[in-house]
Amino acid sequence: MTKKKEVFKPLKGKTVKIFVCGVTVYDYTHLGHARTYSFYDTLVRFLRYSGYKVTYLQNVTDVGHLTEDTGEDKVERKAKQEKKHPLEIANFYLENHLQVVDRLKLLRPDILAKATDHIKEITEQVETIIQNGYAYVVNGSVYFDVSKFRDYGKLSKKIPKELKAGARVEINVDKTDPHDFVLWIKATLEHVLGWSSPWNEWGYPGWHIEDTAIALKYFGSQYDIHGGAIELAFPHHEAEIAQAEATTKIKPYVKYWVHSGLLTINGQKMSKSLGNFIRVFDALENHSPETLRLWIASTYYRKPLDYNEKDLEVARKKVEKVRITLERIKENYTKARRKEYFSDSIKKLKKEFLDAMNDDLNTPLALTKFFEIISLVNKNIDNNKFSKSDLKLAEDTVLEFGNLFQIISEVKKKEMPKEVMDLIKRREIFRKIGNFAAADAIRDEIKEKYGIIVEDTKEGIKWKFVE
Ligand SMILES: [Zn+2]
Repeated sequence: MTKKKEVFKPLKGKTVKIFVCGVTVYDYTHLGHARTYSFYDTLVRFLRYSGYKVTYLQNVTDVGHLTEDTGEDKVERKAKQEKKHPLEIANFYLENHLQVVDRLKLLRPDILAKATDHIKEITEQVETIIQNGYAYVVNGSVYFDVSKFRDYGKLSKKIPKELKAGARVEINVDKTDPHDFVLWIKATLEHVLGWSSPWNEWGYPGWHIEDTAIALKYFGSQYDIHGGAIELAFPHHEAEIAQAEATTKIKPYVKYWVHSGLLTINGQKMSKSLGNFIRVFDALENHSPETLRLWIASTYYRKPLDYNEKDLEVARKKVEKVRITLERIKENYTKARRKEYFSDSIKKLKKEFLDAMNDDLNTPLALTKFFEIISLVNKNIDNNKFSKSDLKLAEDTVLEFGNLFQIISEVKKKEMPKEVMDLIKRREIFRKIGNFAAADAIRDEIKEKYGIIVEDTKEGIKWKFVE
């Protein structure tokens, strides 16, 4: 709102309420969504890591989001095209979205609220806005009167005069001012999803009011963070402020607005008409979730992010490096020396990492520090200069920080070294002839030398690495 960095201070102690605009469920989840939700995932994880108690709320738009060209309801239009019920369409794409959420290792929001489950809250809020004098009814539809809300434009920094000058030719002629926006839309019975209201027999909510009604229900009149992609700042978020503050008369509705940047494909805007529209599942066929997450985190969240194979390849290699480093750490515990070599350097880099994250989520800088830790560990392993505590600190730090971005890929199951296999065979011979002292000595040798614990079970010999 102030267009400058501020010290983050939640409204109440260490609790953070964050609302992020959810998907409109009429099509597959695409790479732009992947960027947006990966960023907010890291934000939520980092707040929790920093000791905040976070409630993460997202809405799901299953009605009322109108197309820019014809002003049709997006979900209804798709349903008509595919000859299905709108809720069937909505459920199908929501299911697809949640699969993407899980594949990308995004946290599911604590509350996922569908607009169609909150019609009562929405109509109540529209009534309050009318009563408070900020909305009017024309031909059964309800519009927010922008001229009555003096602060309109305070988020996007567009003043009403500019708004008027830049107004597009409007499809809807009922509105007094082109920038007034619809709160409740009167519909014909052809619109499958509809509800009766004080203003008409059959209608449905506008897109903007859904978010506000949902946030007010779960968070109350004020909350800490509202997130979404930058293209939602105007008019969507501007409208949200107007609706909420016109309802509660409490300012500010949201303490911090956070907007994530655009996504481009090879330098071009992603769009269906350009034929470069990439669904997340398409991208996952060529790239692992960890690679996508690292690629996303490598660009500062407010800058445009470009999808191109070169950058993806860089990310893939880095993910692999993290995996190999974690394996190397595990393998080297038994070769550790007593003297501590690089724990202090890691502690310093840890602090620099956290400083970068605390500076408006500067993830590219934080990742630079993260990979300095990775290099440091590898260099010291190469030179045989490490203690157990060095390795432990390095391992914990890599896991801890890596998980903020979900870039740790599964460490492949390790194979038992051949020498250990031979020792186990020898041990078996001693056991068979009853020389348990010799068998135990070999078991101790395996543990000491290789960090492997051999266990005799009913199913035969089992082994595991020393933790
Ligand atoms: Zn929204």
